[in-house]
Amino acid sequence: MSKKLESWVDIPSQSDFTIYNLPYGIFSTADRGDRPGIAIGAQILDLRELSGTGLLDDLKMPLGVFKKELLNDFMALGKPVWKRFRDRITSLLSTENEELKPFAERVLVAQSEATMKMPIHVGDYTDFYSSKEHATNVGMMFRDPENALLPNWKHLPVGYHGRASSIVISGTPIKRPMGQTIPADASKPVFGASRLLDFELEMAFVIGQETKLGERISVDNAEDYIFGMMLFNDWSARDIQKWEYVPLGPFLGKSFASSVSPWIVPLEALDPFRIDNYPQDVEVLPYLESKGKHRFDLNLEVALAPESGQETVISQTNFKYMYWNICQQLAHHTVNGCNVNVGDMCASGTISGPTPESYGSMLELSWRGQKPLTLAGGEQRKFIMDHDTVIMRGYGEKEGIRVGFGEVRNKVLPVD
Ligand code: CA
Repeated sequence: MSKKLESWVDIPSQSDFTIYNLPYGIFSTADRGDRPGIAIGAQILDLRELSGTGLLDDLKMPLGVFKKELLNDFMALGKPVWKRFRDRITSLLSTENEELKPFAERVLVAQSEATMKMPIHVGDYTDFYSSKEHATNVGMMFRDPENALLPNWKHLPVGYHGRASSIVISGTPIKRPMGQTIPADASKPVFGASRLLDFELEMAFVIGQETKLGERISVDNAEDYIFGMMLFNDWSARDIQKWEYVPLGPFLGKSFASSVSPWIVPLEALDPFRIDNYPQDVEVLPYLESKGKHRFDLNLEVALAPESGQETVISQTNFKYMYWNICQQLAHHTVNGCNVNVGDMCASGTISGPTPESYGSMLELSWRGQKPLTLAGGEQRKFIMDHDTVIMRGYGEKEGIRVGFGEVRNKVLPVD
C-alpha cells in the first residue's frame, strides 16, 4: 500500500464507508428525488449534483447516467470508465484536493436524512451453493452423513436460477410465506404459513458488462464483467423447500424474497482483502482452473433481534470459506453460451465456516431445530419468528484500511 489516504469529509471511526470504499447506491431525501450517490463516512456524495459542478467534464463519459434512478446505465459504461470515475472521486474526496470543498453543501447529504432505494434493476438472479461446509451440513441433515457432498459438487459450482422480481432492499418487511408442506409421518400435504422460516447469509456479485448469447466468459477475465458486491439474505422456507424440491430443486421455498444491502461495493475496493484461491483438492476441468487471488477475506456476521429484545450476534463467519470463487462461478454460468446482462445478480450460496458458531443459516445453527439458540434476552429460537429482525453485516480490515458493506436488515411480518 502506498501513502495512507485521508478525506476532508469526516469519517467516523469504524465507519464502513472510508475513502477506500466509495460504494454506489440510489437514494432520495425530502427535496432530492431518486439518484445515484456514493457513501463517504456518514454522508452521501450526490452524483447528480456533482455532475453539475463541471468537475467531471474532462472524464469523457456520458454524465446523463447520473440523471437516472438506477445504476444500470452507469455500470454499462464498462470497467475502464468505472476505474477512471473512481480515481476521480477518490481524488476529489482526498485532503490533498480542494476542488470539491466549495460545493460541499450542494453535493453532500447526511445518510440519516436519506432513504436508500433498490440501486439496480436485476434482470436475472442466480444462486450458487459454493460453501463446502454448508453443502456438507445440508447433505448430512437431509441425505447421507457418510456421503454428504454429491459426486458433482467438487467438479462444478452447483447453482440454480432464482427469482429476480422479489429481490428487495434492506429495510423492506418480509412477509412470512404461505405454502404446501407435509407434516411428519403424514401422507398428504397441508396448506398454511411456513413454520420453518430461515435466512441464508450470502454475498452477491453484480454483473456490469453484458455478453452476447453463445459467448463464454473465461475464468481468467471474469472479473472484467463484475461491477461489485453486496450482502445478500436469501430468505428460505425450509418446510416448503423440503416438500417441493425433489427432483428439480428450489422453487417457492426461496422465491418469496431475497434482500440486499443498499450499497454496491466496487470490486476494486476489495483488492486489499484478496487472498489465495481456496485449495481445491479435486482437479477441475481446464475452464474452471482459476489462477491468482480471487478469494476475499471479509468478516461476516448475522444478528437477530426479537420484537422487544436486544440484538444477539448468532453467527460470525467469513467470505473466505467459499470453495468456488466468483470467477469460477461466472465461467461456469456462461460455459454453455448463456448470456449475462448488466444488473444480473449472482449470489454465493450460504456461507458457513467450519465451526458451529460460523454457520450461515438457522437450519445449521440450530441443527434442524435440535439445538435451539438462546438469545441475549433469554428467548430461544430454532427458526425465525414473526416480528424478528435479521441483520447481516460485513467488512474487510487490513493494515488500517477498512471497507464495509453496511448492513441488510429486515423484519419478518406475520401472514395477514
Ligand atoms: Ca441460497
